Parts: sequence; C-alpha cells; structure tokens
Amino acid sequence: METTRRHVHPRGKGTASGRRDQTAQWGRAWEVDWFSLFGVVSLLCFAPFIVFYFVMACDQYQCSVTQPLLELYRGETSLPTIWARSPSFSWAAVKIYGVWVSFQVFLYMCIPDVVHKFLPVYVGGVQDGARTPAGLINKYEINGLQCWLITHALWFANAHYFHWFSPTIIFDNWIPLMWCCNILGYTVATFAFIKAYLFPTNSEDCKFTGNVFYNYMMGIEFNPRIGKWFDFKLFFNGRPGIVAWTLINLSYMAKQQELYGHVTNSMILVNVLQAIYVVDFFWNEAWYLKTIDICHDHFGWYLGWGDCVWLPYLYTLQGLYLVYHPVQLSDPHALVVLLLGLVGYYIFRSTNHQKDVFRRTDGSCSIWGRKPAFIECSYRSADGGVHRSKLLTSGFWGVSRHFNYTGDLMGSLAYCAACGFAHILPYFYIVYMSILLVHRCVRDEHRCSSKYGRDWKRYTDAVPYRLIPGVF
Ligand code: NDP
Repeated sequence: METTRRHVHPRGKGTASGRRDQTAQWGRAWEVDWFSLFGVVSLLCFAPFIVFYFVMACDQYQCSVTQPLLELYRGETSLPTIWARSPSFSWAAVKIYGVWVSFQVFLYMCIPDVVHKFLPVYVGGVQDGARTPAGLINKYEINGLQCWLITHALWFANAHYFHWFSPTIIFDNWIPLMWCCNILGYTVATFAFIKAYLFPTNSEDCKFTGNVFYNYMMGIEFNPRIGKWFDFKLFFNGRPGIVAWTLINLSYMAKQQELYGHVTNSMILVNVLQAIYVVDFFWNEAWYLKTIDICHDHFGWYLGWGDCVWLPYLYTLQGLYLVYHPVQLSDPHALVVLLLGLVGYYIFRSTNHQKDVFRRTDGSCSIWGRKPAFIECSYRSADGGVHRSKLLTSGFWGVSRHFNYTGDLMGSLAYCAACGFAHILPYFYIVYMSILLVHRCVRDEHRCSSKYGRDWKRYTDAVPYRLIPGVF
C-alpha cells in the first residue's frame, strides 16, 4: 500500500492553540445518538424505494409523483400491480452493466494517465491525498479525465460510425439496469463492511462505533483498497457514477430525438450544464482528493450504494423527465436558466479554486488581487503529532463559510428550472441537494470544531454565515 506517514513536529507551549489535552477524535462520529441511528435505519430501509418510486413514476405515470399515491389511496391500483407493471431484472441488463463496470475498472487500473503530459495545466498521474486522521498520506492514480474522454469518444464513435448498440440503450434498459446497480451497490457496501473486520487496508484509520447499522452505512474503513491502487472511494464515486452521468443524459437526448424527431432546448441545457459540472469534476480530480468525501468520510453503504444507485438515477432525473415531457423553453426562460447555471458554476468553481490554491501554496498566493487573509490554527492527529493549518477568510471564503455550496445550489436549481414548472419531479434534485449540503455543512463544522477547537471559534467569529450572508 503506497502510503507515507509524515513525522510531524510536536509543538511546544505557547503555540497558536497548544492544546495538548485535545485527543485526535475528529473524523466520522465515534458514538451514535438515537436520532442518527433512526436516520440511518430509515435510509437503509427506504432509500432504494425512493429511487424506485421516481423511476417508476416516470415509467408508469408520465413522471407524476402524486398520481401513484392518489391511485393507491383511492384503491384504483395496488402495490403488487405497480410492481408487476415494472420491468424486471434481465440478463441483457446484467451483460450491459457487467461490460460497463469491467470497462471502467480496466480504464482505471490499466491505463496510467497521459493527459497531463499533453496538458501541463491539468494535474493527473500519481498524486498525494490529504492526511488521514491516523496521519497517513495515500497516493492516488488520477486518470479520471482520461477515462471520461476515452469512454465518451467510444460512445460517439459507436453512435455515428460503428453502431454496435443503440445510443438509447441506457434509457431502454433503465429499470432492469437499476436492479444491477443495486446488486453492485449492496455487494460493494457489504464487502467493505466485512473487509474492515477481516483485512482492513489501514487498521489505524478504521472506526467502529459499536452500532452495526451505523458502521454498515457510514463505513468503517477510511480508504479501503484492493492491492496498491484500487481505491474504493476514488473508483466508485468517480467512475461508474459520474462518468455514467453524461452518458445517461446523452442516452435521454437520443431517446427524445427518436420519439419526437427533435431535441428540445431544455434537454440541450440540461446536457450542457451537467456536462460542465462532470468535466469540471474530472479536470479537478486531484482537487477532489482534498474534499470531504475522500478526506473525511469512511467508505460504507452511504458512498458505495450511493455512487452505484442514488447518483446515476436521481442526479439524472431532469433528463429522464424531459424524455416524457419534451419541454421547449421560451428564449428568455432558457437564457435565465443558462445564466443561473453558469453563474452558479462560476461561484462553485472559483470558491473551490481559491481554497485549493491557498492550501497548496500555504497562503503564498493572491486572492482577488490581494494577499489572502487567514486564521492560523493547529490540530492533533491520532499518532499524537501536532500539525498547523490555515483557514482562509478572504475572497469567497470571507463571504460565507461554504459559498462553494451556494454556487452548487444555484447550478442545481438551474437544472431543475430547465424542466419548466408543470411537475415537481425534476425539482427533487434541488430539494435533495439543499438537504445534502446543509447537512454536510453542519457535519463538517462539527468536525472542524472538534479538530481546531478555539481556532475554529475565531474563524466563525470572523466569517459568521454558512451559506448566504445575512440569512444562514
Ligand atoms: P469543502 O471543499 O468546502 O471542504 C471543507 C473542508 O475544507 C473543511 O472540512 C476544512 O478541512 C476545509 N476548510 C473549511 N473552511 C476553510 C477555509 N476557510 N479555508 C481553508 N480550508 C477550509 O467541502 P466539500 O468537500 O463538501 O465540497 C467540495 C465541493 O463539492 C463543494 O463545492 C460541494 O458543493 C461539492 N459537492 C457536491 C456534491 C454533489 O453531490 N454534487 C456532494 C458533495 C459536495 P480541513 O480539515 O482540511 O481544514
């Protein structure tokens, strides 16, 4: 396992916050309260049905989320009837999904990155991750952009030249593929759970809460790997889920063309805005190593199943909706959506970029044309070492503590607004993202507060709002 343990300088008295008594208990929860346990068990029980409900509502009820409930309430249909009408598991879908996942594993494991050799501004190849709570630094092979480019080049080559399969193949097998995704999601989560007990990659970074449901859902191992390079978090979050995102949208676009003979401007907007987000993710994959998913979350059902099922099915609901409702937006409406999406993206990217540059250069950079303002802080890792860090308080990071989330939410709202206002189903995404990011905000701040102690308080005094200045 390619990890390095950095030996750190124990700091003397009189440091910014020399709190030697603070044990290194930042990272995922060590104890589970009843409220969290209730949330975990509810999600484990209901999340797969939520996904099924939305996809079924499109398949059987033209994307109306209220109609199935009303029919059930009035006794006009029953759960067995809905179930019987849903496409079932098929071996054709298993073949498609097997080829897809195997191909992504092959690209991830067998083709080292060459893109960074042609594009020097792009950071690819072997990169260091962030320090784990146990004090380790993992190495990662960053080749996501290359995998995305190869996959999409093949997709377009097939659509326009080879014709091995129909570009609508994903839409045409959407529900059978969902069963395959669920099988992989549960298998991966269960494997990671068992692996953590039997052969963990880094036992010092494992966390057991004593609650089996919480451990299964939120994960025990921090960075489970098979061999030296197959990193579960990097692979599952990026590859079967996010590479697929743009392909799924392209498949919806092809279906619209097939059904109606044209593609609507709303479908183009959704494809373009979401493609910007996806390409941005891969262009900045090295940056992603420093985000909460990789730096702080453990790998369990939440990431494993979420990446295999929740992400490809629910992040793409707008495109699915537009296959059933080919909305043609007025020019002003389309322009507002485009502007909202682009401004949201600009805020999201610039905010993340400011933090990235600031951290990489250890503050020796310029933010909005000036030397950055920051708060010096320190923290302790589980090996007892004391480390220094800095919290940026200028640029977008001086506007609010998570302005990157605000930009992300603006972009998410744009995808939804591209679908018009006839149904609520496409708006699920903005509701979900708001819950996800507000919860993430609270979770992250709780962790940072345990990590940085009084220094974090100084930071929140300097930047008092979380998402929207003056509001929250
Ligand atoms: P951040 O990139 O905001 O990272 C938070 C971490 O950054 C903190 O834990 C802390 O880590 C450090 N930090 C906090 N404040 C400062 C500061 N002022 N200066 C320097 N460092 C600071 O959060 P995420 O990883 O959650 O999100 C990354 C991006 O991904 C966001 O733009 C988000 O919108 C997006 N995202 C999208 C999702 C989706 O499903 N579409 C899901 C989740 C995220 P440390 O311990 O190093 O100090």
